[in-house]
Amino acid sequence: MPHQMRLDKARELARGLELDALLVASPANIFYFTGFRGAPRLLVPPDGKPILLTPGVDLAAAQQHFSGAEVEVRHVRVDQRPDDVLLEVLRELQVRRLGFDSLPLATYRRLAGELGEEGLAEVVEQVWELRKVKDKREVAAIRRACEVASKVMALVPELLAPGVRELEVAGELERELRLAGSEEHPFPIIVASGPNSALPHARASGRELRKGDPVVVDLGATCEGYVSDMTRTFVVGRPEPWQERIYVAVREAQLAAVEALRAGVRACDVDAVARNLIDRAGYADYFVHSLGHGVGIEVHEQPRLAPGVEEELRAGYVITVEPGIYLPGRGGVRIEDTVLVLEEGREVLTGPSAPPRTR
Ligand code: ZN
Ligand code: ZN
Repeated sequence: MPHQMRLDKARELARGLELDALLVASPANIFYFTGFRGAPRLLVPPDGKPILLTPGVDLAAAQQHFSGAEVEVRHVRVDQRPDDVLLEVLRELQVRRLGFDSLPLATYRRLAGELGEEGLAEVVEQVWELRKVKDKREVAAIRRACEVASKVMALVPELLAPGVRELEVAGELERELRLAGSEEHPFPIIVASGPNSALPHARASGRELRKGDPVVVDLGATCEGYVSDMTRTFVVGRPEPWQERIYVAVREAQLAAVEALRAGVRACDVDAVARNLIDRAGYADYFVHSLGHGVGIEVHEQPRLAPGVEEELRAGYVITVEPGIYLPGRGGVRIEDTVLVLEEGREVLTGPSAPPRTR
């Protein structure tokens, strides 16, 4: 059972840090270690059975998911407070030193009251170290999510026409993503036209497309709990020279940065490849975000490709490369692919690239 293997990773972590138990509270981390979604708390002692604390809404699903597994599913009844049950279990296990990934402040305070601050160790970075390197199964799921996103992205040109609203385009794409097998939208689809395209995190609005509009479309799919993230920029009709210029600058920066990806390269150096090219093209002030981010169970994972991030990439990282140029009030261009880092080089999982222009 593959997730048993990841529970072993949690046990090893607890053992290595000399914890009496590891408390996993982030839903993404619980999914990572168990494949189960929905449980509020997972306790993993270095030896013995992990305990999943779950409310009634998830109880049946949890029992089914963990049937036959060495995991105790404990029901947090509707008249019980989850933190009370958690403290009970910690006492049962005689936990003195507890590692945790992320906790609500109120829960942290109660635990600190019980164990003392010195009894609590944050292990969020150690869990990220595990999650950053994707195993074969994870890569296969992300690969599928990338295929679904790419297939749907290829439909965009036929949806764009003067008079069509951004929301209509987004709605069509959402439907197509579902039909193509996406379990859920990992983030709200961006369809940003005209001046909206100059806002990197614009959402789809009621704005009607016009001839000559740049249109930034940013979408992703979810397959087996793993996501993809992809952006293409289109133009309704023929692009104007300024649009061509920024498109070419972004495309060249994106290709060069993708080319620079491989195990051993520092995240900041990949960012610099794209940033320097955009700088040289004269748009330094208009590339206002980091170059990329890890992708996996969540759409924004570690590491970031950004200035100052000196960590070296490792084989098995899945990361986006998404430079953009945004001219306020006029329009913007972003091109984004999800890329797997290999020992020697990289594999672009989304694509192929869509043409910059449409009708
Ligand atoms: Zn994106
Ligand atoms: Zn992204």
